[in-house]
Amino acid sequence: MKQSYYVVLLSFLFVTLLYAGDSDYGNYRGSYTTLDGNSDTLFAQVIAGANDSCIVMITIGNIPENAPQIRFYGTKTGGEMTFNGKIDLGPDMGGSYDIEGRITDSFMDGTFSGYEATGTFELKKVFIKSSTLGSKPPEGAVVLFDGVDLEAWELKNEKRAEWKMTIDGAMEVTKGDIISKQTFGDQQVHVEFITPLMPDKTGQARGNSGVYLQGKYEVQILDSFGLAPKDDYCGAIYKVAAPLKNACLPPGEWQTFDITFFEPRFDQNGNKIKDAVITVKHNGILIHSNVSIPGPTRASMINDEKVPGGLMLQDHGNPVQFRNIWILPL
Ligand code: MG
Repeated sequence: MKQSYYVVLLSFLFVTLLYAGDSDYGNYRGSYTTLDGNSDTLFAQVIAGANDSCIVMITIGNIPENAPQIRFYGTKTGGEMTFNGKIDLGPDMGGSYDIEGRITDSFMDGTFSGYEATGTFELKKVFIKSSTLGSKPPEGAVVLFDGVDLEAWELKNEKRAEWKMTIDGAMEVTKGDIISKQTFGDQQVHVEFITPLMPDKTGQARGNSGVYLQGKYEVQILDSFGLAPKDDYCGAIYKVAAPLKNACLPPGEWQTFDITFFEPRFDQNGNKIKDAVITVKHNGILIHSNVSIPGPTRASMINDEKVPGGLMLQDHGNPVQFRNIWILPL
């Protein structure tokens, strides 16, 4: 009894220590109000940069796809992140504005002034949760990782998997790609992962890992929070297809992939007659719909499409964590 109390206390301390001070990065929601009483909603993403800098992306209104997006560079002075600049929203929205803002303790506020309007804005950090987070394995599913051990996994050539287990029941990329001992054909996969905060790194060096179907076809894991989709960013079928939209959550927040995969088909002579086909939801949002994959993607463990394979998790040198992994064979 006493022991479990300490485990809870310790893990709470651990999580608090790990994320304290990094809490200003992430998603924000709020609104602006002009002095004459007009207002609208705002959505913002604060992306960590090197040397205590950040990028602040502010979207005006409720329809992010069509809304004007404003981008600022912020710098840290004292405990406070500040940003300012001039933006031109075009003739329909009153032309140009001077903007000054600050972020402190998960709260963003500031002022704007232009020819047509002057006012203030306020936003609060929000935690957007994937609709599939914590999905239970359905009947018939094979549980590959539930926080207990790595018995379902191995390194290449059947060597023992030795990734680190965290205090809160996740596994962390440690030493080598791991692959499930059991192989799967057509399948539905659920994976939960978290990318580490690596403000000093960019591109492929920032929270990189990956989920490889059959050890061959990678759905990329990367901290590309707030960036426009690319074919090597998070959720991409690596160098085959960019995600339809960026559904990334910030580093330090749990994310999900829900993948439906159909393996390639071959005729009696072993000639491929149909490519592998994949559909992916990232944090519950559809990012690939029936995309054909012409062949194994870069750094696959298995290169022959006819050789069966398990689910592979990539070691790209970054401490990405995983939990709640199951596969329903179809
Ligand atoms: Mg990768």
